[in-house]
Amino acid sequence: MAFAKFIGTAGARFVVMKQLRSSGGIWLSVGKTNLYIDPGPGALVRCLNSKPKLDPSTLDGILLTHKHLDHSGDVNVMIEAMTDGGFKKRGVLFAPGDAFEEDPVVLKYLRGYVDKIEVLKENSEYQIGDIQFSTASRHRHRVETYGLNLKVGPHAISLISDTKFFFELPDLYRGEVFIIHVVRLKPVVEDWIDHLSIEDVKTLLRKAKPRLAVLTHFGMTVIQAKPWVIASELEKELGLKVIAASDGMKLDLEEVFDGKSGDE
Ligand SMILES: [Zn+2]
Repeated sequence: MAFAKFIGTAGARFVVMKQLRSSGGIWLSVGKTNLYIDPGPGALVRCLNSKPKLDPSTLDGILLTHKHLDHSGDVNVMIEAMTDGGFKKRGVLFAPGDAFEEDPVVLKYLRGYVDKIEVLKENSEYQIGDIQFSTASRHRHRVETYGLNLKVGPHAISLISDTKFFFELPDLYRGEVFIIHVVRLKPVVEDWIDHLSIEDVKTLLRKAKPRLAVLTHFGMTVIQAKPWVIASELEKELGLKVIAASDGMKLDLEEVFDGKSGDE
């Protein structure tokens, strides 16, 4: 069994604060291992309300790609839920160093609840149960941020978290399933915006040619342009399978890898 459930697909502050989409990141299950990636605001409530219910006490780990609020808002309560309120010391927390240092997002009193804290560093490999993954180079984002290349058996999934586009980016991720956080519709010209646009996504997909691209983490301009319309336009233009994640969408990874979905 291998699936990714998109608990929330909101990105950046306005879509999150107005909850135009849920925020809450991704629940990834591979074999017997459950890993929660980026538990943003509402992650706990959305998990418990999802059908079938996802029980956070079955998590083996929680991972923050970075400490921004829309990726980490529920990290503390999810640590409590994973560890039965601290009564069962278990699980691994993965996060960049700055999530624990100045202006930390992980409360100190909860840090002892988990079995292990693994500080994410660039270009490093990690393992949790049936999931092996590596970080690529550090992203261009205001806080320490990493994308992931995850191994699922012989297959690979890439997850590109928040970043400004940079020259090497298309070479860092080559998964058959390619999950991209795309916040902006139009090319980003403002220097202070550290996010990908749909133009950047095209550049990435032309190079990587994944079996399936999944767009998520939408900002206001993408929401207004209807993510599913954007995805179908990209699909036509690039000749690749592209879908826009929706809240609660469950992606059966084995089906994608077996070619039952995702093939042109
Ligand atoms: Zn961010």
